[in-house]
Amino acid sequence: MLAERLARDAGRRVLIVDRRPHIGGNAYDCYDDAGILIHPYGPHIFHTNSREVFEYLSRFTEWRPYQHRVLASVDGQLVPMPINLDTVNRLYGLNLNAAELDAYFASVAEPVTQVRTSEDVVVSKVGRDLYRKFFQGYTRKQWDLDPSELDASVTARVPVRTTRDDRYFTDTYQVMPLHGYTRMFQRMLDHPNISVMLNTDYRTIQEFVPWQHMIYTGPIDAFFEYRHGKLPYRSLHFEHRTHATTQFQAVGTVNHPNEYAFTRVSEFKHLTGQRHEHTSVVYEYPRAEGDPYYPVPRPENAERYRAYEALTRTRPDVTFVGRLATYRYYNMDQVVAQALTTYRRLHPRPAETAAE
Ligand code: FAD
Ligand code: UDP
Repeated sequence: MLAERLARDAGRRVLIVDRRPHIGGNAYDCYDDAGILIHPYGPHIFHTNSREVFEYLSRFTEWRPYQHRVLASVDGQLVPMPINLDTVNRLYGLNLNAAELDAYFASVAEPVTQVRTSEDVVVSKVGRDLYRKFFQGYTRKQWDLDPSELDASVTARVPVRTTRDDRYFTDTYQVMPLHGYTRMFQRMLDHPNISVMLNTDYRTIQEFVPWQHMIYTGPIDAFFEYRHGKLPYRSLHFEHRTHATTQFQAVGTVNHPNEYAFTRVSEFKHLTGQRHEHTSVVYEYPRAEGDPYYPVPRPENAERYRAYEALTRTRPDVTFVGRLATYRYYNMDQVVAQALTTYRRLHPRPAETAAE
């Protein structure tokens, strides 16, 4: 986004350097050997409440409406996740209505004076049994930490509902790029001022390519050569499989909080709407080593990040943006919003300069 804005709006010449063999970072998509559009780095569902972000991206793609649904495999049943009225009724064999479920949650919720951790968020809303069934095992697998060791913001990403709404997200805009993310990025970068250099670590060329300003999107600790120690980033191993059947599962994602080494299984055709006689799915196996995918939100990591953030002020020639460089558990739309804000700061319009 910053490359696009700097080239098209500010008339700058931009060189994009990525060590991977493709553009688009983790949002990259491509066709697998069977001809099915997949997300090599796990299922990416676009959702946002920001009209500005939606309108900006709409310059580069048409959209297909898609509302993501998730089932969790718990006690031998597949039930809606986020926890909703049907989840509780099916799990416990009840027939509550929304008001009764509210009262039920109130009766099982544990009082928490200050909601600090990912455990607090859940037990203070739905009590310990649902916490154990849906959150504790999944979180331990995903992060190798107990929810009590993670910031509240992690499990707070997943709401609890007393209605029958079974959508994973409730944002105003829930859409997928009609021809995929990579096509959208290609159109974004299709400008004579933009060149792309793949399979290249920026460190191997920074001394040979003349540049005035760098936008850095990699891990911030690596940029500063781990001067303040390593910042943990959680990684995943993705296992992709293609099945000779048109549909593998009823919804886009099935979560497995308590069994198996993987956390979830996602079937791409639900997300993309593609029709094909076969279907491709991906299993996500969390791990510590490997490509960095997630910052790990907890107080000691925030503190270490702040030490790195202080170092960024010694580098006015570099701008740090994105999930890895600002150590924030951002969704795609938040990264786009951050990039658009960053662009306005780097290249203020005359009216904006006057207002400052
Ligand atoms: P990245 O996409 O991580 O890109 C950083 C790039 O920098 C990489 O391509 C990397 O190769 C490159 N790089 C790093 N170091 C160097 C170096 N030294 N030299 C050259 N290049 C380097 N978001 C959603 O909105 N919806 C979802 O459903 C969703 N699902 C997700 C599922 C998974 C499994 C994961 C891991 C993330 C998901 N996300 C989702 C989040 C989304 O992937 C991120 O918000 C987005 O990719 C962040 O973009 P970014 O540009 O900050 O970083
Ligand atoms: N989570 C959980 N059980 C679930 C789904 C999510 O415990 O069935 C917790 C888990 O800690 C997870 C976090 O909530 O890492 C955020 O979930 P989300 O689906 O947003 O994760 P992402 O798509 O970013 O991997």
